[in-house]
Amino acid sequence: MKFEKFVGNRKIIERVHTKLREQRFPHGLIFSGPQGVGKHTCALMIAKALNCLTAPPGEFCDECAACRKIESGTHPDVVTVSVEDEATQIKIAQIRQLLGILDLQPLEGRSKVFIIDPADLLNAEAANALLKGLEEPPENSLFVLITVNVHELLRTVRSRCQIYNFTPLTMEDVRQHGIFDELTVRWSQGSIGRARSLDLPQLKNERAVVLEFLETVVTAREEEFQDLLGVSAEMGRAKQEFENRMDMLAVLIADLLYTKEGAREPVVNVDISDRLVKLAARVETERLIKMAEFLRFIESSMKIHVNRQMLADVLALTGNQTVVHWLDGI
Ligand SMILES: [Zn+2]
Repeated sequence: MKFEKFVGNRKIIERVHTKLREQRFPHGLIFSGPQGVGKHTCALMIAKALNCLTAPPGEFCDECAACRKIESGTHPDVVTVSVEDEATQIKIAQIRQLLGILDLQPLEGRSKVFIIDPADLLNAEAANALLKGLEEPPENSLFVLITVNVHELLRTVRSRCQIYNFTPLTMEDVRQHGIFDELTVRWSQGSIGRARSLDLPQLKNERAVVLEFLETVVTAREEEFQDLLGVSAEMGRAKQEFENRMDMLAVLIADLLYTKEGAREPVVNVDISDRLVKLAARVETERLIKMAEFLRFIESSMKIHVNRQMLADVLALTGNQTVVHWLDGI
């Protein structure tokens, strides 16, 4: 892929490209932003531009031996440091190994490029060791630190790098790739990586469970409370799926709010729009907003030990009309 073909985050790409062409590239970069928007791809493109055997400065051919080796991860001067198998963090030994080759001349290319991905998983010792490399980098070297959240990195590391904040892609950007169907585009949440890994049949199965929960919660009358408690109990029993289902519920509630406003373009679940229209007609905006607010509370609670069943029950009761009327009467 060439710089011109990179989809999304065009301002960043153009800035990087200009700096490369003008040969005034810094030694430390941080690419921060959501997963799957091309941060690693961009780092590899820079490595190619710095080492391509045929293209003029700032460009790369994507075909020569150097470009192909960088693409396949076998170029000796372009090293990606990541979390090793069965480890949870990047260790100091990995960074020391990298610093060991920092001062050597490049073996095959013109520049050494070290990509640390994900840099937020550097343990404290490793991050401190990396600082040495960032403090006095040799002329022909570049560090690219990739992270979903720049604030997870040490301030001393941040201050020695130029920071580029990548943003999610627009739906139009994802569509532009031309390889995804419309539902995948809408569920991608602006991430090509997510679009690629999305398992649509599984997503639809999970969505069916969440939609049944939502429909029951919103429409159950007093005499149907057993149903309400039933779906709530099922939701509370979910273990690793629980967070995913809460995220899905948030998307469905947003879809209902858009549907109520008559805004069709931002709706994600376009394949079930008839069902959404019917459901939207049966629930007040205020109740949807209350549920959305409670979902945000759930999201923040998930970081600590929580009682999923209690959360599911409160969520179900928050969304039910009869209960809301009871509470109003107290
Ligand atoms: Zn090349």
